[in-house]
This record gives sequence, structure tokens and C-alpha cells, in this order.
Amino acid sequence: MAIEKYQKLLFEKIKVQMSRWFDLNNSEVIKNEDVYSFLHSLKGTAGTIQLGGLFHLASRLFDQLELKGKEQWKKCELREFLFELISLSYQYEHFKETDLKKVEPSESDLPLVQMIGDDVSMLILMKEAMEEKGWMVMTSTDPEKAVSLYYDLQPDCLVIDTDFTKENGFQLLETIQQHNHKQFVPKVILSTENNRQTRIRAYEMGADDFIGKPVDMEEFVVRIKRQLQRKQTFDESVLIDELTKVYNRRLLYDLLDRYLKEMERTNSVFSLALLDLDYFKDINDSYGHLTGDKVLVAFADFLKRNLRGSDIVFRYGGEEFVILLPRTNSEETIDVINRILEQFKAIEFNEQGRSFKVSFSAGVYMVSNPVEGSQDILKMADHALYEAKAKGRSRVQGANVAEHSANNILNVSVIDDDAIIRTLLVRVLQNIDTEKVELNVQSFENGEKFFESGRLTEKGKHFLILDGVMPVMDGIEVLDKVKSIPRSSTIHVLMLTGRKSEYDIARALKLGADDYVTKPFSITELQARIQRLIKRMF
Ligand code: GH3
Ligand code: MG
Ligand code: MG
Repeated sequence: MAIEKYQKLLFEKIKVQMSRWFDLNNSEVIKNEDVYSFLHSLKGTAGTIQLGGLFHLASRLFDQLELKGKEQWKKCELREFLFELISLSYQYEHFKETDLKKVEPSESDLPLVQMIGDDVSMLILMKEAMEEKGWMVMTSTDPEKAVSLYYDLQPDCLVIDTDFTKENGFQLLETIQQHNHKQFVPKVILSTENNRQTRIRAYEMGADDFIGKPVDMEEFVVRIKRQLQRKQTFDESVLIDELTKVYNRRLLYDLLDRYLKEMERTNSVFSLALLDLDYFKDINDSYGHLTGDKVLVAFADFLKRNLRGSDIVFRYGGEEFVILLPRTNSEETIDVINRILEQFKAIEFNEQGRSFKVSFSAGVYMVSNPVEGSQDILKMADHALYEAKAKGRSRVQGANVAEHSANNILNVSVIDDDAIIRTLLVRVLQNIDTEKVELNVQSFENGEKFFESGRLTEKGKHFLILDGVMPVMDGIEVLDKVKSIPRSSTIHVLMLTGRKSEYDIARALKLGADDYVTKPFSITELQARIQRLIKRMF
């Protein structure tokens, strides 16, 4: 017992030292002799109080320190140098050693379950049970927010608790079902009214399963698993996008591979155009998602009618379409797409007594080398598309093979008063592998500093990782302020909350956080999770 107390004290000491060095207000450089004496004493103490791992780490760092022979350290250099130590003390503080071994890096493309309901303690329970399976789970308590999250993230399964106090869960089911009968996502209904009438109603409205409360957790998880399997089988067997009736992304990859093989034989080039509707989110926001759906269908029809028979249209995702143009070089393709753009943006849509027009931006890439992979081809087209967007949208841009233009940018801001967590998170984020997104990561000690910095005016999308409890302007206040900013629906927020702090979780979700993670969190898990979230966002 006594030794544990000393162990705890030692880790506390490390923590204090890290905050002293790395908190933002302090000086930019740290004297080497300070680092030297810190590691020296750490090595000694750790050995004495039976902290073998820490002893070895401190010894190794100590040796490296001597080899480096520096006079002083920049803050960021030292943080990098001591990273393992920071990570170890975090893990010591929050997990017993046995727990640590259980944490395995999750696969990168695990299923996403979206849960909607307003009984927060129930949501927390179910989220935990499903996350244990390694699935990613998003929860919303606000039906409106839930609908927009559903479109943004395209979950693999939807769980709707129909026992809403204010709004009826069935209404929500109806809204989503209007879209959903064209885009298969299994839906599971939870209800306390486990009677024949309610069950029939649920199934009639498109529910795939009905679970009465109280819920048996073990059975619940198995039933969701079953739905996720169905969804996967469905996805694997379908080649046509149900909503727009054009080919889907899966067939695109198959066909690209086939074209590339053929190219080896015939030597003929082909081009790919990636089209993305401009400000599509605004259409959803002002006219509703069903109007958004109509625009997508109209756009796909328009493309099919106005292209040559040999050109093939695919829905690449959300409001993005790909056109494959066999035996067509990039100039010809740019001409074709420009003509299409002129025609399409002249079309007037009439909805709810108002009229509006829609444009798109496009990136074009010509494939002339059979060794290119389909991923690289799409990346090139995506770079060009990004350039078209950056130049003001409603235009077609050829991929500039010589220069790699800037990629999509996601600004990730970590706001947490704990220096150790900040360091860890920034590191986790820098290690995230994002295919088409460039991450611009920055950390802030508190909400005031974050707003003062003007961070949110930076170009690109924003993703905030926000500590719920902070001494200066707490996370909830920051969230509240963020959500009052115009176009804040494009700012995604992940909230860090205290374990089982139901009150905080409920408030965060009410204020529009996209998701929450309870502290302490496992680093690998959080990394996998953020990675998946980013993948879904683009
Ligand atoms: P930008 O000009 O930069 O492309 O702006 P944007 O608003 O079009 O860009 P963003 O990619 O942020 O928004 C795309 C939106 O498309 C997000 C998502 O909610 C919506 N969406 C995705 N799939 C569907 C769908 O099947 N139906 C509807 N109605 N909306 C969808
Ligand atoms: Mg888009
Ligand atoms: Mg768009």
C-alpha cells in the first residue's frame, strides 16, 4: 500500500513538471540542465519504488539526453522527446496495467451505429455496450440534429428510441424513412410500449427490428450485430445507387481496374471527372433533406441524359458524382463537363414556393498510364476538384500533374486545460492517416484563448475536440458559443466528458456536440475513432 502511494506521488510530480514546461504561457525554451536533473531524479526514484517500466524509460531518455548534448530545448522539441513519458504517465494515471493490454488497435473501417433518443442514461449504456464490440456509436438527443447527422455520416444501422418526451420518435422514423426506402440502412425501434399495435405500426413504417424495454443488453447487441451483417451483405451485392439509379462507388472501382488492364493492351487513354454540388448543405438546410434528395436525383438524370452513351455516371458518395469517359483526353473532357455545367446551372428548381439554381465544381484527370492505381486516380481528380472549389466554385479544373495542389484541409483544434492530454491528443492526431485530407492541428489551453486566436476563421472544415470541464470557460460554454456562429453546422465537435457524467453528456448533446468520449479514454481507440469520423466527414 505504502509503495503505491509513492508511485502515485511520482506520477503526480511528472504531471506537474510537464504542465510547468508545456503550458502555453511559459517561456519558449527550457534549459537542458533542468531536463537533466528531472530525468536523473526520475530514474532514481522509479527504480526505488518498483516502477520497472518507468525506470527503463527514464534511463533510456537519460542516455539519449547525454548523446544529444543540447544546451536548451524548444518547447515542441522537448515535448516530442518526452512523448513516451507523457504517454506512460497518462496511462498510469487512468488504467491499471491489466487494462492496458486489452487495448488493441481497432480496424479502420468498423461499422457506425447511430442512436437517437432522449433518455441519456439509456443511450450511455447502449453506447458503451456497442463500443465494446469495437463499433463506432454516435448519439443524438435532438431529432433535428439527428437527421442532419444521418445524412452527413451515413450510418450502417439506426437505433431509434420512440419514447421521446417531446417529439415523437415515430415522426423521426417517418422523416428518415422517406429517404431510407431508397437507401438501405437497417432501423431498430426501441419502445416501452411493447404491444401488438405499436409493433405493427413500427414494422409498417419500415422498422427492421423492434425491441421492447427493458432491454436485455446482451440480446440487444446481438440483434444489432445481425442488422449490421445484413447491411454489409446488402452493400456487397448492390451495384446501383438506389436513390439516383446510377452506378455506385463499388462498381466504379471494379470498372477502373478493368479499364486499367485494358489500357495495357490497347494503349488508349480515358478520363475521370469528379463532380461535387456547390453549397449543397445550404439546400438541405433551407429546403429540407427531401428537397436535397430531389436535387440529387435530378442531377443524376440530367447527367445521364446529356452525356454520350459511352460515358458512365457513378454516385461516388453524398453529393459527389464521378463520370468515366473512355477514349477521351483531358481537353475534350473539360469541354464536355463545362458544357454540362452551363446547362445544369441554368435549370430552375421550384420548391415550397421559392426557386433556386444549383451549380457544381469538377476536377478532371486523364489517365494515360496503366500502372496508376484507382486510388491515385481519384486522388488526382480530388485535388483538382479542391482547386475548383478554392477558386470560387461553379467551374471545371484539370488536374495539374506537375504540381500537387493543396488538399482538403481539416482544422482540428484541441481545447483542454490538461497539458498532458493536449500533448497526447495532438500526437494522436498527427499520426492519423487521412487519404484525402490534410490536417491542421492546433491545441488551446482554454476556450478564451481559442476564440481570441480567430481559429474558426481559418479556411476549411473545423473539428473541435473539447474538454467538458475547464477552469476558464468550460467546454459547455465553448460549445454554446460555437453553435451560435453562422454556418456552425459545418463545425463538428467531439466532447470529452467525465466518466458517467450523465448531466454533462446530456447537455453536450443538447447543445449539438456530434459525439462524446468519456475520460479516461484509450489512446488507440480514440485514434481509430477520430480516423473513422474524418473518413466519414469527407
Ligand atoms: P461545397 O460547395 O464546399 O461542396 O459545400 P457543400 O455544402 O456542398 O459541402 P459538404 O460536403 O460539406 O456537404 C455535403 C452535404 O451533403 C452533407 C450531407 O448532409 C449531404 N448529403 C449527403 N448525402 C445526402 C443524401 O443522400 N441526401 C441529402 N439530401 N443530403 C445528403
Ligand atoms: Mg462534398
Ligand atoms: Mg458539395
